[in-house]
Amino acid sequence: MSKDYSRYPHQYPDATGHFGEFGGSYIPPELQVEMDKITKAYLTISKTQRFIEELRSIRTHYQGRPTPVFHADRLSELVGGAQIYLKREDLNHTGAHKLNHCMGEGLLAKFMGKKKLIAETGAGQHGVALATAAAYFGLECEIHMGEVDIEKEAPNVIRMKLLGATVVPVSFGLKTLKEAVDSAFQAYLKDPVNSIYCIGSVVGPHPFPMMVRDFQAVVGIESREQFLEMTGELPDVVCACVGGGSNAMGIFSAFLNDPVRLVGVEPGGRSLNLGDHAATAAFGKPGLIHGFKCYLLQDEQGEPAPVYSIASGLDYPGVGPEHSQLKDEERVSYGIADDRETLDAFYQLSRIEGIIPALESAHAVAHATKLAKEMEHGSILVNLSGRGDKDLEFVTETYGFNMEEAEQKLSL
Ligand SMILES: *Cc1c(COP(=O)(O)O)cnc(C)c1O
Repeated sequence: MSKDYSRYPHQYPDATGHFGEFGGSYIPPELQVEMDKITKAYLTISKTQRFIEELRSIRTHYQGRPTPVFHADRLSELVGGAQIYLKREDLNHTGAHKLNHCMGEGLLAKFMGKKKLIAETGAGQHGVALATAAAYFGLECEIHMGEVDIEKEAPNVIRMKLLGATVVPVSFGLKTLKEAVDSAFQAYLKDPVNSIYCIGSVVGPHPFPMMVRDFQAVVGIESREQFLEMTGELPDVVCACVGGGSNAMGIFSAFLNDPVRLVGVEPGGRSLNLGDHAATAAFGKPGLIHGFKCYLLQDEQGEPAPVYSIASGLDYPGVGPEHSQLKDEERVSYGIADDRETLDAFYQLSRIEGIIPALESAHAVAHATKLAKEMEHGSILVNLSGRGDKDLEFVTETYGFNMEEAEQKLSL
């Protein structure tokens, strides 16, 4: 590492929301006016003592932070090579890292005097986390969701409704995530005075990639301290799965200026043919999606390509603009774990450590075990972004209860 990253979080994004050539804000003027208001509010409110103290108290008393760092010594011994440590974001309230930024967005909404949170959701994970934040702050919540996803993700739809959110079915186009984003933006533009749009990852127009990164930074700050305290050293590698990239930016941000290798893990899916994976940083080209510039998996027309992953939280054809810049600077490298490797890690971590990971997080574990074998010693800190409860039915019905059963299904 040659560059000095000590001032990096203050330098990026710049005032126009750019991370080098990436990021920015490519949206209609009426939406830009609203984004500018959110940026201004965020930059002032989030720096006040009252905001910082209230968020800190929420982290401790409601979310259950700090989440522990755990030395997975049985897994490390089995794999051989480097020692594997897990940052247990699966133990965060609601079972994943997403609540870290949803509570931040909800608190900002409260300070801005908003009455309603609006967002889209694909698999329902962001919708559930945001509905939780809305319930906590006593705000209304409106979640836009494609009809196809509503059918597929029934348990999360039930959770959102129990938490008091209105789930708005989206019935145009492919009736999935992309249309849900369009629908949520339209709803937001109808009432920007009383409502605020809350995005689910480090993506979208400025200021969202910055805001979500800042709210997720707690993961990195905690784990750097915890790891130093446990081992007296920094980890050699920090590894996290990347969909839009929020859990990865959260943990990476604390280690940017350290001599630590940072590795994002993308889903290799069923094959590396376009349409069979979502390895955006690895195979994408710069392009535009949802109002920002990033590495993007594109078809021949330059439109976002169809993507696939066994983990619904990772199947996004774009990636956060900050990841795009850190890739070009070669500060972060991007590896791949395919469906088979991911399932193997899912079963293995369950059996050997008693931790059932989310399929998203299992990608990071799978890649970490590959790296551990290559390294003779040293340590790898993995961000275990969420728990696997949401995936149990799907995995066991589709692939069975262990890797031997899964191998048979996979080879059909
Ligand atoms: C949504 C989700 C992800 C992917 O989102 P990022 O913004 O890339 O972190 C990863 N893990 C879990 C458990 C999720 O719910």
